[in-house]
Amino acid sequence: MNDSSQPLIVGGGIAGLVTALSFAPKPIRLLVRGRLGNEGSSLWAQGGIAAAVGPDDDPRRHSDDTQRAGCGLADLQVTERITQAGPWAIDYLATLGVPFDRSASGDLLLGLEGGHSRHRIVHAGGDATGRIIMETLIRRVRSTPSIEIIEGFEARVLEHDEEGILGVSAVGPGGASFFPSGRVVLATGGVGGLFPATTNPRGSRGQGLLMALLAGAPLIDMEFIQYHPTALDTGTQTLPLISEAVRGDGAILVDEKGNRFLAKAPQAELAPRDQVARAVWFEREEGHQVFLDARKQPGADFPVWFPSIYAVCLARGLDPRKDLLPICPAVHYHMGGIEVDERGQAAIPGLWAVGEVAATGFHGANRLASNSLLEAVVCGHAVARSLADAPIPHRTHKVSERQPIPSFESKAVSAILGRSMGVVRERMELEAALAQLAAEMKGGEQPMALLGWVWVFAALQRIESRGAHFRQDHPDLDRHFEKRQRVSLEDWWAHNPDGGMG
Ligand SMILES: Cc1cc2nc3c(=O)[nH]c(=O)nc-3n(C[C@H](O)[C@H](O)[C@H](O)COP(=O)(O)OP(=O)(O)OC[C@H]3O[C@@H](n4cnc5c(N)ncnc54)[C@H](O)[C@@H]3O)c2cc1C
Repeated sequence: MNDSSQPLIVGGGIAGLVTALSFAPKPIRLLVRGRLGNEGSSLWAQGGIAAAVGPDDDPRRHSDDTQRAGCGLADLQVTERITQAGPWAIDYLATLGVPFDRSASGDLLLGLEGGHSRHRIVHAGGDATGRIIMETLIRRVRSTPSIEIIEGFEARVLEHDEEGILGVSAVGPGGASFFPSGRVVLATGGVGGLFPATTNPRGSRGQGLLMALLAGAPLIDMEFIQYHPTALDTGTQTLPLISEAVRGDGAILVDEKGNRFLAKAPQAELAPRDQVARAVWFEREEGHQVFLDARKQPGADFPVWFPSIYAVCLARGLDPRKDLLPICPAVHYHMGGIEVDERGQAAIPGLWAVGEVAATGFHGANRLASNSLLEAVVCGHAVARSLADAPIPHRTHKVSERQPIPSFESKAVSAILGRSMGVVRERMELEAALAQLAAEMKGGEQPMALLGWVWVFAALQRIESRGAHFRQDHPDLDRHFEKRQRVSLEDWWAHNPDGGMG
């Protein structure tokens, strides 16, 4: 089981599973916190997966749309490479057995989402795309003998020395364990679980980011956190998502008087997410309530096209065919992450990252809807190829050299981030948050405070508004900031020479 020459993937969402399957038949280990299929955003994906497969579409157009949403920071080579691979990714998943929704003649049914200039959202089971893709992938992974599944372990530390990665320390039912490996792939997903209002599962708490940061890997694009404009406002931390595809099918946003406040905006309710989220945020700041009105469109078809969302609404006493749905913005997707190259390799030898935890340069300052599942599939393949090409390391690591296992507790951090890193940000609030997070670090040695500090630091450094990052004190785009921003542990030490990390 503990053969350090085998790669180790941490995380069993779409990114981790595609990487594992693409590496077969070579042996690989897959470590997940819960039971495979019990956790992660992939299971919750609703809208679908974007790919230029329609007769009026082509990958160049998809790349252009991705670039436009990315507001000058999406890497052209990356957007071209990933969108080119879109039709292949759909074929690959269909060949594995994903039953995408098709017309009677067998053509893929294509949805439309905000920021896309063509219908190109491929879906399965209406709004159950993520669950259906995951069921297929999990079935495949479980029946692939070269994939060893290690369930019930939460990775806590990337063990490393000056030559690179040595393995992962994790906590399982029997306490701490060490999984040696000179090739570790982090596929730990998103960050919403660290914020007070999110569409993500609670377990998506940026742990991979923190582990990589502490091991010395730079993070990039951290300030770009996408808020989804239409989470169902249930007043809980995790809010059910009402997919953009519902707006794609004609639903509109109204205030408590029925006023359609986005009617005159370019692309109206289908403008890029950041614009819609800000409009909703400002409406609420002005004391209005905001609702999604799906009564006319999709209207009676709602249960047919969006059965999962329909069920979620009904469970809360709301029938989207008759009732207005109260909504609010919520943390949905993190464009930033561990900086990786086109092979998914991070700056530390032996470390790869894939899926939402990685920042490939595909999304820039704002993710175009349904581009993340696509990125995970395409990059999962690239990572598997790169793992296979990498020399097989035989690293040894003495138990006594291991670092202490940190806790991922984060209550105070969550409240600070909620106040400072919202849809709309502002210098004084960010400065106060930075000081509070530094104090948390120094007082309690709380590692999540370090991650919070990195976010706020990145948001303070970007003195402009771009994509998902909106500064009320600098509401305009500034071309001097048309570059991606990297943050590493060195930034912490430079600003906090008295430390606080034990
Ligand atoms: C409600 C919702 C709807 C969405 N809809 C769409 C959509 O329609 N189209 C689209 O493209 N994108 C969508 N997204 C975004 C997309 O689902 C995610 O970006 C994508 O699924 C991330 O995949 P992943 O494999 O990187 O991470 P995840 O699927 O989140 O998987 C992470 C895995 O890592 C494990 N893990 C985490 N930390 C640890 C640890 N410390 N130790 C061990 N294991 C760990 C988790 O248990 C899980 O198995 C949606 C997101 C949400 C929340």
